[in-house]
Amino acid sequence: MFRIVERQRVNPEVNRFVIEASIIAQKREPGQFVVFRLHEKGERIPITIADADAQAGTITVYVQELGKTTFEMGRMNAGDEIADVIGPLGNPTPIEKLDGEVFAIAGGVGSAEVLPIARKHKEAGNKVIAILGYRSKDIVILEEEFRSFADEVYVTTDDGSYGREGFVTTELADHLEKGRPIAEIIAVGPAIMMKAVCDLTRHYNIKTMVSLNSIMIDATGMCGVCRVEVGGETRYACVHGPEFDGHKVNFDLLLKRLASFKEEEKISLERYQAAVGDEHTPWGAQDA
Ligand SMILES: Cc1cc2nc3c(=O)[nH]c(=O)nc-3n(C[C@H](O)[C@H](O)[C@H](O)COP(=O)(O)OP(=O)(O)OC[C@H]3O[C@@H](n4cnc5c(N)ncnc54)[C@H](O)[C@@H]3O)c2cc1C
Repeated sequence: MFRIVERQRVNPEVNRFVIEASIIAQKREPGQFVVFRLHEKGERIPITIADADAQAGTITVYVQELGKTTFEMGRMNAGDEIADVIGPLGNPTPIEKLDGEVFAIAGGVGSAEVLPIARKHKEAGNKVIAILGYRSKDIVILEEEFRSFADEVYVTTDDGSYGREGFVTTELADHLEKGRPIAEIIAVGPAIMMKAVCDLTRHYNIKTMVSLNSIMIDATGMCGVCRVEVGGETRYACVHGPEFDGHKVNFDLLLKRLASFKEEEKISLERYQAAVGDEHTPWGAQDA
């Protein structure tokens, strides 16, 4: 069992958890993730390791309430125990000193996934520019953490309630037009956002890595559920990724596969909510 040490609601849809998992804390690298199974009847969900404290033996994750399992996890507290935490999984992000700037682009809870990658780029001696996009001011997370090390931080909100009005691509387009010396872009967020970033950077021929949030089950390369098409070939996001060259990803197929179980996911959440008597609507479920 893995004990939750801290649980904090960081915005109406995202909780931050610090969890005891000492071996994972010692081994994890930026870009890697864990798979949780909350209890013996639970489903498996992949979540990125946002931070770790090797000495304390803890990992930190940010979990957005989207459906049944993340909603259920959002009701767990410090002292509660998670049945399984498996990891670290996936390939660490390759990070080295680059000849040029690194743009770290995040959408929503993707900020928690980009944070350790951007921080390590800074430690490697790279100039890091962060562009963080959210739907509105009330769900902005981790801005201060990015400001503590990044050379420049830009925040956008879809509705203009904070930072610049528009999407992350609105901000990025300006930097591309100015001809900044960008060596690499890492973009993490909803698939549709990563697609938009890649469509933009393709014209400038700038290397753009994305972290794919395909549906996963075993996350060890055996079940094949997380298969994605990259460069015309089938790849498993769990073992070949989760990061890929965004210009080669078939995003249309990914978006289709992500929507495969929408109806079942909705029913599962509704049943759970009826059972626990909580009608709170997770944000992701609003568009379901
Ligand atoms: C490598 C990786 C890292 C991730 N890191 C984070 C993170 O740090 N924080 C975070 O909040 N979310 C992260 N996710 C997404 C997270 O796994 C899903 O939000 C979660 O599985 C949803 O489960 P649910 O039962 O609450 O919702 P469901 O009702 O099952 O699904 C809601 C939506 O979530 C997506 N989803 C469902 N199951 C999965 C699955 N097994 N894998 C991926 N997406 C799924 C689908 O688009 C679905 O429409 C990550 C996903 C991957 C693949």
